[in-house]
Amino acid sequence: MSIPISAAEFSEYLYSVFEKNQLSHLLTGEKADKFLALTERLLSENEKYNLTAITEPKKIILNHYADCAALALYLPEGATVADIGCGAGFPTLPLAIVRDDLRILAVDSTAKRIAYVNESARLLGLSGVTAVAMRAEDGAKSPEHREKFDFVTARAVAELRTLCELCLPYVKVGGKMLAMKGKNAEAELSVAGEAIRALGGSHGVCEEINLLGDEDSFTHPIVIIDKVKKTPPQYPRPYSQISKKPL
Ligand code: SAM
Repeated sequence: MSIPISAAEFSEYLYSVFEKNQLSHLLTGEKADKFLALTERLLSENEKYNLTAITEPKKIILNHYADCAALALYLPEGATVADIGCGAGFPTLPLAIVRDDLRILAVDSTAKRIAYVNESARLLGLSGVTAVAMRAEDGAKSPEHREKFDFVTARAVAELRTLCELCLPYVKVGGKMLAMKGKNAEAELSVAGEAIRALGGSHGVCEEINLLGDEDSFTHPIVIIDKVKKTPPQYPRPYSQISKKPL
């Protein structure tokens, strides 16, 4: 499918936004081609899978690609990452394009979106990505996934206390949770101390990523939590309990 701007204009804007946000070292010509191919696929499959409300290519570049690629600055070479509630592959797919050294497990409860993410990764040659359809709280109980990742990421998935219970069980002791949150991040963090401690986390901080486009800009708060102790085996609880009675 063709997109409503030319390939040259797409590439120029992609480079310009990455440059403005000190991310240009993450781009190459091949990676820019992958972002173009991902955009064509995202827009052509959007009706079938309901993948994104953002359909204007320049907005996709800023609000999805630069936003997600900015997380790469937190991830050391060769890190293993579980991306919980990846939806249409955010941050998984942009991260995998800019960082082919990462090994990313993308998790979402919606099988159709996971099929889309796996097929996108295959078409783009992103061999570090595996996407699995499962509920995060179920996957966290499996020995294959529990405390096996250096980092867990999540963008726009749940309120922080709920999110911690879904995410922290995946992280190894010594690893980190990176939660891309909305404007209530500080307020959510201020009431999440008990949940963070109960789940083996510590030292939650909120940083702000400022993202600049040509005409628009936005700030994305990111909550960073260290995993300092093993998560007790009773967590995560079934989702009905997590949401009804957050820790
Ligand atoms: N992270 C993506 C993004 O930033 O575009 C998707 C965000 S979307 C608002 C939230 C996603 O989280 C949905 O795709 C939903 O299916 C998934 N999700 C919510 N709770 C989940 C759970 N307990 N286990 C797995 N996926 C979950």
